[in-house]
Amino acid sequence: MPAFAFAVSGLFGSNVEAQGGIRLRQPFAGTYRLTAYVDHRSPDYTYDGNVVVYNGEERLNCPDCGEAWTNQGTYCYDGHNATDYALPGNTPVLAAASGRVTFSGWRSTYYGNSIRIDHGNGYETWYSHLAAFSVNLNDIVATGQQIGLSGNTGQNQPYHLHFEVRHNGDVTDPFGWQGNWSDPLPSGLAVCLWGDGQCFEIVVEDESDWFYKYGTGWDWDCRGNGWTMRRVANRQTSESAYARWRPDLPHTGPYAVFAFVPAVHATTTNAEYVVHDRDGDHPVLINQLNYSDEWVYLGSYNFWDGILGYVYLDNATGEANGSGEVCFDSIKFRQFRVYIPIALKNYP
Ligand SMILES: [Zn+2]
Repeated sequence: MPAFAFAVSGLFGSNVEAQGGIRLRQPFAGTYRLTAYVDHRSPDYTYDGNVVVYNGEERLNCPDCGEAWTNQGTYCYDGHNATDYALPGNTPVLAAASGRVTFSGWRSTYYGNSIRIDHGNGYETWYSHLAAFSVNLNDIVATGQQIGLSGNTGQNQPYHLHFEVRHNGDVTDPFGWQGNWSDPLPSGLAVCLWGDGQCFEIVVEDESDWFYKYGTGWDWDCRGNGWTMRRVANRQTSESAYARWRPDLPHTGPYAVFAFVPAVHATTTNAEYVVHDRDGDHPVLINQLNYSDEWVYLGSYNFWDGILGYVYLDNATGEANGSGEVCFDSIKFRQFRVYIPIALKNYP
């Protein structure tokens, strides 16, 4: 019974419809860095030198990000079949949806301690590298119920949560498919399964095609959201570097805007993001030092559809030259509601 039948056709430029009754929440509380997406090209750990993520962007020749569980960088995890999050050890892992525990134990030397939940309608979720279990085989669990603790079991890798979604046994992507070309995922078109608003977000990573940086002094670090973060030393007066996040928005209307501030390098107390929307430029001062791997709300703004709106940031912070670093990481734009075209009819 499609109790959640839910059409968001046209929202992402491709036909995205959730068929048949599953909505997921994040498998943890709070905010942690997303460190690897599903590779839509070959989600079977085949290293083909080509990664395609949910928004349709392709990655080639990714630099080595030095995070031990990938060969080619976090946003560029060739062949990955799941979404990874940088959960520290012993963080509660939560059921993404209600269901029955159909596996609880050692999955393999690759995945370590793992739990599988059957949600019905052909959907299953896997949670891997766990340190401890809170549920047993055949337990019925509720959405958001703690099922275990995060760890690093399986291989010798940093702590993280490997969160895998399968539909009729095939790998699928809970972020769906936003590309304006055909989804290369072998099992077919992925649909966005998140029930917490993530389906209505456009995330612009600092390595996205929609991120534009200018000037000099740029450096980077692996410990950012998505793939990397960009950083540059601050300047007291005129800027020497600046950047714009310029998303291709699906509709004219209001969006809430958030900036991801990573735990490292973001040391300026005076980052001035400028949001450019239909009403003009809106400066928002953020003390980056106050945040640690968090999405920071910059306010809500009225954008055009297309690529006219943007968020701007530069390294002129007013602080003494080189006394801190300005961090440029992901920006996300969240639509307030599902866009529903309204056709007015005159009834005779
Ligand atoms: Zn993984």
